[in-house]
Amino acid sequence: MAAPVLSADHAASKSAAAESRQALEAIAPADAPLAGFAGTRRVPPPVNEPVKSYAPGSPEKLALKARLASMAKERVDIPIVIGGREIRTGDTAQSVMPHDHAHVLADWHKATPAHVQQAIEAAKRAGADWANWAWEDRAAVFLRAAELLTTTWRSTINAATMLNQSKTVYQAEIDSACELIDFWRFNPAYAQELYQEQPLSNNTMWNQLDYRPLEGFVYAVTPFNFTSIAGNLPTAPALMGNTVVWKPAASAMLSAHYLMQLLREAGLPPGVINLVPGDPAQVSQVALSHRDLAGVHFTGSTAVFNGMWKTIGAQMGSYANYPRIVGETGGKDFIVAHPSADPQALAVAIARGGFEYQGQKCSAASRIYVPRSMWNDVRDRTVGMIDEMKVGDVTDFRNFMGAVIDKKAFDKISSYVADAKQNARIVTGGKVEGKDGYFVHPTLVETEDPRYRLLCEEIFGPVVTVHVYDDARWTETLQVIDTTTAYALTGAVFANDRRAVREAQMALRDAAGNFYVNDKPTGAVVGQQPFGGARGSGTNDKAGSKLNLVRWINARSIKETFSPPLDYKYPFMAEK
Ligand code: NAD
Repeated sequence: MAAPVLSADHAASKSAAAESRQALEAIAPADAPLAGFAGTRRVPPPVNEPVKSYAPGSPEKLALKARLASMAKERVDIPIVIGGREIRTGDTAQSVMPHDHAHVLADWHKATPAHVQQAIEAAKRAGADWANWAWEDRAAVFLRAAELLTTTWRSTINAATMLNQSKTVYQAEIDSACELIDFWRFNPAYAQELYQEQPLSNNTMWNQLDYRPLEGFVYAVTPFNFTSIAGNLPTAPALMGNTVVWKPAASAMLSAHYLMQLLREAGLPPGVINLVPGDPAQVSQVALSHRDLAGVHFTGSTAVFNGMWKTIGAQMGSYANYPRIVGETGGKDFIVAHPSADPQALAVAIARGGFEYQGQKCSAASRIYVPRSMWNDVRDRTVGMIDEMKVGDVTDFRNFMGAVIDKKAFDKISSYVADAKQNARIVTGGKVEGKDGYFVHPTLVETEDPRYRLLCEEIFGPVVTVHVYDDARWTETLQVIDTTTAYALTGAVFANDRRAVREAQMALRDAAGNFYVNDKPTGAVVGQQPFGGARGSGTNDKAGSKLNLVRWINARSIKETFSPPLDYKYPFMAEK
């Protein structure tokens, strides 16, 4: 199928009619079936993408620095993409650098409710063809996307994530390069495993499972904080044969735009993923009310997900199918130290787990429980690290932290810092400055009250709160941790005493979907620590695993009998 999407430069000069004809031709199902393929194909065994160092003088650093410089000089015009066609409404919003918020990187065009309708229709039309592709051919698109991201697209996607989402080079590299490459390499292998599972058969019959995609379209809604999640939420259902309407986060539009271009270059047919940036409530209202809504693939805050679920619940009976609702949501992630813990390992886990990417990871450590016997030592080590951390422009590689994402986040986090100044003790940090960039300095808070609100609520910023407990109350403290918040995403125990590790693992069994022993609770790797939490943290469908892909298929059982019975009577009926 010819690549029909117009490049950004040429789109404006083409007439609307020509564009629309081209798009319709492109998404119409092929008239003649493609030539078949005989043989059981196997996808390449997946391997985690190595994290590049960006050390001084390295080729990757030179390439990235050059792309950062060129991107900072550009002002990109980001279109809506429906059925492969780029649409510009003229009603635009700006994408800026959070660490230099007067610097505009892009203008993006907002979709209206009519565009969302068109996107749904385009997805359905594209689905008629895409759903019938051999799954290996769909997998090939994403395997190629992974390779493009590894090579020619790496600098662009990393630079967009750094400039528009204010990630340092290392945080961008592990997210927008490595994790997304891993999603695109591992999901095909998991799909292969899934498709291989078939029921029992014998000489008289052949039983088969047909792993159909869902009937309808999938609505993907993505968060600002991980480019890899933005890439995975629309593509995981697409891999399984679904077509998608994708609403990206307003504050991460630049990477979303480049991901669409990368996927087109990888051979993704028009209409399989349709990009509809816009007012979240308005876009969602149209998508969630459509009778053909087959599924929702969401990552973001608990409140938004609850709202979407309610909207769907209120309309049950109006859908053609029961929509699959998959959501990974908020967290209030803990580290608990036992008196036998290594104080240096604990301090590093607090520093990295709490403050990397400005604490804006769903998995970020934000409540810490330390025994009194260790606190002075751990505090001094942690404060030593925090006080060294440089905060600023992420293009200066010496900085450990950039800015928080936008004014709303800055104000919200600042209000928590103000609360801590009043109602707890700031151990170090507490400085906020929003004039040029949205900077919140790493802040460590100490409180006596185990139910203090900074230990309970998701702040989503670089504010870590410590509760010091009496050593004798270890077991009781585990109970407190289990019952303090509504969330259950990640958590960690630090202990050298194996009995304590076992006790924490059992007492906190339902308190985290990703549990760490002597390690920080962030940095899950695809294929190694399948990620997701329960309780108020989501449906725990483990992004980047077979468990997630299962949600995007709709299995059909087929029984074929080779010699059907020819008499309706059973032997027992022969005598009384
Ligand atoms: P958010 O909930 O503000 O936004 C997420 C998405 O929902 C965005 O695309 C946004 O535009 C959209 N949205 C906002 N209001 C909406 C509405 N009324 N109706 C429909 N859609 C709406 O979250 P965010 O600030 O982008 O991301 C931070 C949140 O995401 C945190 O709570 C964090 O814990 C969570 N998160 C969770 C995971 C996980 O795997 N559990 C991963 C990353 C982020």
